[in-house]
Amino acid sequence: MSAILERDVKVNGIPLSDGVAVGRICMFNENRHSQLSFFKIKKSGLLEEVARLDKAIEQAASRLDSITERVRDEIGPAEAEIFIAQKMIMQDNLLRERAHKLINEELLNSELAVTRVLDDYEARLQQMDDQYIRERASDFGEVKRRILDVLVNTTPNLQCDQPHCQKGRNRVVVAAELTPSLTVEVSARHTLGFVTEGGGQSSHAAILARSMGVPAVSGIEGILDKVACGEEILVNGYTGEVVLNPSENTVREMRGKYADGVRKPAAVPPVDGVSVRANVSTFEEVADAVEMAAEGIGLYRTEIDVITARVDFDEEALYKAYRHVAGSLSPVYFRIFDIGSDKPLPSLGLAGEDNPALGLRGTRLLFARPETFRPQVRALARLSQEFVVHVMYPMIVDCGQFVEARRIFGQLAEGIDIGTIMHGAMFEVPSACLAARRLYSEIDFGSIGTNDLIQYLYAIDRNNNAVAADFKPEREELWELLTLVVKAAEESGKPLSVCGELAGNPLYLQRMLSIGLRDFSVNARVVPVIRQAVAVMGKE
Ligand code: PEP
Ligand code: MG
Repeated sequence: MSAILERDVKVNGIPLSDGVAVGRICMFNENRHSQLSFFKIKKSGLLEEVARLDKAIEQAASRLDSITERVRDEIGPAEAEIFIAQKMIMQDNLLRERAHKLINEELLNSELAVTRVLDDYEARLQQMDDQYIRERASDFGEVKRRILDVLVNTTPNLQCDQPHCQKGRNRVVVAAELTPSLTVEVSARHTLGFVTEGGGQSSHAAILARSMGVPAVSGIEGILDKVACGEEILVNGYTGEVVLNPSENTVREMRGKYADGVRKPAAVPPVDGVSVRANVSTFEEVADAVEMAAEGIGLYRTEIDVITARVDFDEEALYKAYRHVAGSLSPVYFRIFDIGSDKPLPSLGLAGEDNPALGLRGTRLLFARPETFRPQVRALARLSQEFVVHVMYPMIVDCGQFVEARRIFGQLAEGIDIGTIMHGAMFEVPSACLAARRLYSEIDFGSIGTNDLIQYLYAIDRNNNAVAADFKPEREELWELLTLVVKAAEESGKPLSVCGELAGNPLYLQRMLSIGLRDFSVNARVVPVIRQAVAVMGKE
């Protein structure tokens, strides 16, 4: 799986933004304008083409307004100026006149006219002696891309093209160039660091990275060919050093050296009345949870270890990994493999589906392919002889499905002397929330997966940036469903936690507490953030 077999491969670039980060790589690319076509128009269509361009410019400018607003709220007013300046370039009369001229005199279509004018501006700025001015050139490229987005009717599709990428989770973004829009777009998704091939020290993107406190290094030529999505990378934004596939020693050394600069908050002790556990995606991440003094692992996404081939897909290897986690922290909530849709495992050889998010995934896959789960079930059953094991079933849709899943678990574990296993359901499909009272008559505990719950409740693809703005947890219907589940849990006297990203968002903490939620499971480095927020709320 790994493109780099060698450990501690060091490369040097230009330090753009202070700090040190160690994380998994996400190779973002800007997948835009594949349908872009350049052609000459007919004379009879001149007026229409000019109007089309003007309309596109206005629309692109108004998209910029919403970005500006978001940046102002999330980063700051000074940084928002970058996008105000882009809007000024976009609405500049001279730009419009030159593009109109190309349409009217050379019969170019709008796409071609805009590209010609802005490429020309960009090229001219790039030739200037002054480095600061040269670095402004990329703004013209970005303005062009924004207008083209409207003309070809796309929204920037910023994405990592690897199916196993943990989109939206802790990652170091490796990209060709750090554009302001990329910086802002991914910042909202908890980026740990940036490494890019191009981009200068005073580029807008570098300014944004600095104000967001995200370490960044640029100028590493060919980095995109050297690494693969999911591999580990260390970014030293102080020195410009980047270490591919760093060894434990290097990471430890770096943490020792830059104790204050490593992007990780200091641990905060547990707070009364609220429990904060950690979500982990690989067995190795349990160390971060221990470091952050998490009160257990509230969600272990076990599928990631096998999808990324960190752990062999056999009973012994899984048992070892699970024993390591269970021996490090307790309790541990093991989610059985949530394979399918955005987390495919190609080696299973499943047929392609038109609609994988609604297809053979999660607990349905357990029913369809019980043998796939046998090594995991047996590893967990063995583990229960030594530890209390919590098993969570993903994508549960109703009570009958849960009962059947638990039965299959028992069948697969046959022959093993089972210790204590608690069986729980994830509430991440709306029907399960509606069935909460019935489910609570069977389950030992519940855990709300808000990421999928929002996706299925509002029919909104959680990985599609084109609809990301509509992914709004503040909507009433979500809270009505959450309240239903809380009530059912209270009536049954059994535990309920929240393990989706909502749990780690301090903005919604007050509201979650007010409906009676008290157990949260969040990314390890968010554990102190939530505890701090609870402590602050207690004082208000
Ligand atoms: C969720 O859906 O909220 C959840 C915790 O599971 P995942 O993000 O792994 O789908
Ligand atoms: Mg989920």
